[in-house]
Amino acid sequence: MTDAEVPRQPMTFALWREVDDTHVRTRLGGFFYLLAWLLTWVFSDSPAQVIGSGLLGIVTFAGLLAARLMHRPKGLTTPEQLQRWLDHHWGLILLTALCWGQAHAWALYRDEYNDSELITTLATVAFSTAMTFNFAMRRGRALLALALLYLPGLILMALDWENRHTLLLTLSFYLAYLVLVLGRNHREYHATLALEVKLLEQQTRLDLLSRTDTLTQLGNRYQFNNLFPSLVANAQRQNEPLSLVLLDIDHFKKINDAHGHMGGDVCLSAFAERMREIFRRDGDALLRLGGEEFGVLLPSTPLQQALELAERFRQGLEQDGLQLDEQRLNLTTSLGVGSFDNRLDRDADAFFSRVDGALYRAKREGRNRLVISES
Ligand code: GH3
Ligand code: MG
Ligand code: MG
Repeated sequence: MTDAEVPRQPMTFALWREVDDTHVRTRLGGFFYLLAWLLTWVFSDSPAQVIGSGLLGIVTFAGLLAARLMHRPKGLTTPEQLQRWLDHHWGLILLTALCWGQAHAWALYRDEYNDSELITTLATVAFSTAMTFNFAMRRGRALLALALLYLPGLILMALDWENRHTLLLTLSFYLAYLVLVLGRNHREYHATLALEVKLLEQQTRLDLLSRTDTLTQLGNRYQFNNLFPSLVANAQRQNEPLSLVLLDIDHFKKINDAHGHMGGDVCLSAFAERMREIFRRDGDALLRLGGEEFGVLLPSTPLQQALELAERFRQGLEQDGLQLDEQRLNLTTSLGVGSFDNRLDRDADAFFSRVDGALYRAKREGRNRLVISES
């Protein structure tokens, strides 16, 4: 999975990480159950005599292995999908544990398996240990798996106390140890996960900060430089309209002179707020390109529509001005508007220059006006 595909939302990320870990750790496991039963059967007193249970075990563990391998976490994006995958996969893990517990008990119970029952007991210890170290992300489920793996064998040993009590006691102590370790592993897993989530949140915040203009909270020049070429490429590929509006406040120097730099700053924030009121579609990208120059990228918006929005913005500003504290401030803006045109624009830079030219004309022709960069 590439960096871009890692979910950013903390809860989705935590689930995605758990799905990924579970998937990676479960792949090997299935083989060993099959192998352990194969050895138990082959090294039993007489494999031919127990062909029924031997084959049943092979079919069961091969089937469970196949189910694990086929159950891949593909195309999961929402927390619900991820959670459902985890639930289903845990179903397979627990079912395998249940079957192994029964297999162990069967090998202990049947005299035909006397020669190989040690293999089954050792495998039970190995599987329980693997469970404790690999699947501690869910403590309750892992405990249930331990019980399913371990208890049937322990019960059988208890029933044959005289012959098997030493092994029973040893295995019980080991089980207690595993339960303790499981608790510790569980805490460690989630502490690491919490740290990862925190790092991810910080990364997302820094990423946003680096792309945001602090004064106006619009996208900054860096954001524009990233976004603009990719939107142009997209428009080219999809043959979709892409419009660009460039705005430059008229005689802003005079505002600074009259109201001070701070007053100018308040004015820029209020200007950005008005932009947000007019250009409000989800896909619209509002940007401060520098000083008192702004831009709006309008994907899937034909020239006519962009023009109407831009002119509405200009007229509204001319009529209302900006509200600075208690006083109204007269302010106008000049605008250049254009749509990307495959025949006219070689690339994103050429498109930008064309619209910038229109803005320049608006200034030259007297300001407080909109000039279309006709295709
Ligand atoms: P024109 O109509 O030709 O655009 O005139 P103008 O005065 O708006 O344009 P010019 O580019 O000559 O001056 C822009 C001014 O914007 C100069 C600069 O001090 C001011 N400015 C740039 N960035 C900021 C800022 O972040 N805060 C404030 N308060 N002023 C800024
Ligand atoms: Mg300027
Ligand atoms: Mg200006």
